[in-house]
Amino acid sequence: MLQSTLDRTAVLAPNYRPLEVTLVSGDNCWVTDVDGKKYLDCLAGYSALNFGHNNPELNQAVVDQLHKLTLVSRAFDHDQMLPFAKELTELTGTEMMLPMNTGAEAVESAIKAARKWGYEVKGVAPEQANIVVAENSFHGRTTTIVSFSTDADAKNGYGPYTPGFRVVPYGDIEAVKEAIDENTVAALFEPIQGESGVVMPPENFLPDLRELCTENDVLMILDEIQSGLGRTGDTLAQDLYGIRADLTTLGKALGGGVLPVSAVVGRRDVLSVLTPGTHGSTFGGNPLACAVGRAVIKILKEGEVQERAKRLGEILGERLDKIQEDGHLAEVRHRGLWAGIDVEPRLGLTGRQLCERLAERGMLCKDTHGSTIRLAPPLTISEEDLNYAMDILESVLNEQ
Ligand code: PLP
Repeated sequence: MLQSTLDRTAVLAPNYRPLEVTLVSGDNCWVTDVDGKKYLDCLAGYSALNFGHNNPELNQAVVDQLHKLTLVSRAFDHDQMLPFAKELTELTGTEMMLPMNTGAEAVESAIKAARKWGYEVKGVAPEQANIVVAENSFHGRTTTIVSFSTDADAKNGYGPYTPGFRVVPYGDIEAVKEAIDENTVAALFEPIQGESGVVMPPENFLPDLRELCTENDVLMILDEIQSGLGRTGDTLAQDLYGIRADLTTLGKALGGGVLPVSAVVGRRDVLSVLTPGTHGSTFGGNPLACAVGRAVIKILKEGEVQERAKRLGEILGERLDKIQEDGHLAEVRHRGLWAGIDVEPRLGLTGRQLCERLAERGMLCKDTHGSTIRLAPPLTISEEDLNYAMDILESVLNEQ
């Protein structure tokens, strides 16, 4: 049956309101809808598609593994698991990894590991552990994670909430300092807030947070599910500051936009608290996921994608700055091939309306809040296509 003859509101839970575009295929940064219309994908699955749609290397890895072995559960080992763990820890300069599936699961796992480490190693009194988190953060949709969300839509109606979180303004090191006490086991932050609209903390925040966490025996947890794996022009956003978190969560692009693959990477002494029976996942670290993850790591190891993100990111920034100078954007924030733009209120255009107009002209992106939209094309986009996307944005804004 054709998609258009189905009533989506009758059979599909209405937790999303997508743009009116029904896609059937994709090739690198281009996608095609049911009518054959082509669009430049400037969302890239919220950065899950860093290496583009239908990436031949990733596809080959999936197909090869698909015909061999797809799932054993963690009851047995398989030949992809340890190479994946070794290659991921090498890529990220970490000691140990825990494989999971979705981003939210990786964050939940990091929270669990931090709490258990707090009780067993740091000596926090039972049930007293707290974790410092940021306002306007986005770490996923599970009940524990939404318990500390400051987004009413994400949080309201899902109580009772998990206690043990202290929310501070993002980027405010003094507030983190004040929030830390003897029961603080971790500080959990996005190095750049993605869902919030690509918001960067003050330049010294992450290095200062690193120092503060070390001084207070508090685990620094960085959620790099959106910022990691090439997006910012470095393998991890924390590389920009030359620091290493105690635990880092990865997801999205780790599965190359093919499969949900996530992981927590970090200190061996921390992840080692997750002993047999205390944590797990049927699909976490399955052979197919590990094979895709290894293909992703192979691409990232070459460093070319990160270089592209850096180089094309400069062009993206220049083009956006120019559009801002022309008076169409109130604010532009960008790092690597990743930007958040706020439409000038004078234009009277919501982010949603702008996305609809861009879609009409053949460019897909997504509003975040109000009049903010996020641009995150595949890192494999050509310079020509990136300029084409900027031409569309410029001309749509010029028409307002
Ligand atoms: N953490 C961050 C920083 C994210 O951006 C997201 C998703 O947007 C998540 C966690 C949750 O990932 P998932 O949707 O795979 O659960």
